[in-house]
Amino acid sequence: MRIYNTLTKTKEELPKSEPVGIYVCGITPYDYSHVGHGRVYVLWDVFRRYFTYRGYQVKYVQNFTDIDDKIIAKAKEEGAEPQEVAERYIEDFLKVMDQLGVRKADIYPKVTDHISEVIEVVEGLLEKGHAYVVEGESGSDVYFDLESFPEYGKLSGRCLADLEAGARVEVDSRKRNPMDFALWKAAKEGEPAWDSPWGPGRPGWHIECSAMALKYLGTNFTIHGGGSDLVFPHHENEIAQSECYTGQPFAKVWVHNGFVQVRGEKMSKSLGNFFTIRDVLREFSPRALRYFLISTHYRKPLSYSEEELTMAERSLERLTTAREQLRLFLEKKPQGETSLPLASLEEALQKIKDDFTAAMDDDLNTAGALASLHELATLTNKTIAQLTTPSQEELDFLRKLEETFSSLGDEVLGLWDPVEAEEDDAQVEPLLELILELRTKARSKRDWETADFIRDRLGELGYKIEDTPEGPRWKRS
Ligand SMILES: [Zn+2]
Repeated sequence: MRIYNTLTKTKEELPKSEPVGIYVCGITPYDYSHVGHGRVYVLWDVFRRYFTYRGYQVKYVQNFTDIDDKIIAKAKEEGAEPQEVAERYIEDFLKVMDQLGVRKADIYPKVTDHISEVIEVVEGLLEKGHAYVVEGESGSDVYFDLESFPEYGKLSGRCLADLEAGARVEVDSRKRNPMDFALWKAAKEGEPAWDSPWGPGRPGWHIECSAMALKYLGTNFTIHGGGSDLVFPHHENEIAQSECYTGQPFAKVWVHNGFVQVRGEKMSKSLGNFFTIRDVLREFSPRALRYFLISTHYRKPLSYSEEELTMAERSLERLTTAREQLRLFLEKKPQGETSLPLASLEEALQKIKDDFTAAMDDDLNTAGALASLHELATLTNKTIAQLTTPSQEELDFLRKLEETFSSLGDEVLGLWDPVEAEEDDAQVEPLLELILELRTKARSKRDWETADFIRDRLGELGYKIEDTPEGPRWKRS
């Protein structure tokens, strides 16, 4: 399998390593997860599923940045503790990812549980002369010394001189270089702080990912991923810290996904044009959203709109219908002679599987993989249309079609894994009205048995029926 590596700017063969160690930068939990987050983590879910399908062992680590300026600001706004804020949005994240059929990470490390690991890396960087301490009143800051790492910029292709020229960072005369970034920040009043050799404080943003990736995956692990907005400075800084600390390469392959856009602009919290997943799932099914998120190749921008989601819903519907029809046929008893040209149908099925694998092997081309599933739906529809009473051989072939839906659609793409949300009353209402109309008809014919049966069954489903002078009414019991 070949994957595009941001570091080398080429597609490379997936390095042979057991297990495939993957570190993906997780969320900073200070608000509900939006569709942009959905794209990142559904993508990595598909990567993991595909690696597993191809026989690789995978170890997947994804952090939570559970202490950060944004969390602290939100907590102040609400008069809550930062930890409360972080926990609330971590819970939302895990819930919506579950709804989208994203399998759990092997490890979800949190920064606040890894302060001693962070301190260890910062101490190591100081010892080796890659960092320096700037004394302050209440405690000291520690900065990374960019001049000490000549390879800085190798991921983003930016060089230090350009960065300095274009830098709009506030001038801090205590820093050796305006681009030097904080490894450890001295505590500010009223903010959470941990003890350290430099006084009370907390980790800078970038250092946590180095400390936790090295702890759980070691040096030179297989893949590091994240959104393309993280290439600079976050991932560039992770490389600088980690490689200076260990003297070894950090990650072999760097994978970055494109943005979700709304009318040509990046969807983000800061631009205020974001849609939370929980809101989208009020209008659309999690399956439709998952289908939409993988319908475009991950490195391209994905344009979000209700129309696009509706189209995704319809495309998925087409696949689902074909599969349902197929399942109905599989319940039939074998009968009669074989009339289908099974050899050529088998050949067509094999080609679909090969095309699917070729697409996924080419830098996880999920759009191509979905096209193959639509071919499978076409082949299924065509086959069924020619059958009335399938023979044993024909049923065997139909079973192979279903197995292909299952392995490619369920196992790899997870298309039918997302949990369908409970329908709310607005969707159920017209159906209930119809059922009550039938019950009224039965009653008018003095068919009490049917009328009572309907009332009792609705009761079991959680709808209480009351007969009033204006006609029957229902409410949730
Ligand atoms: Zn990170």
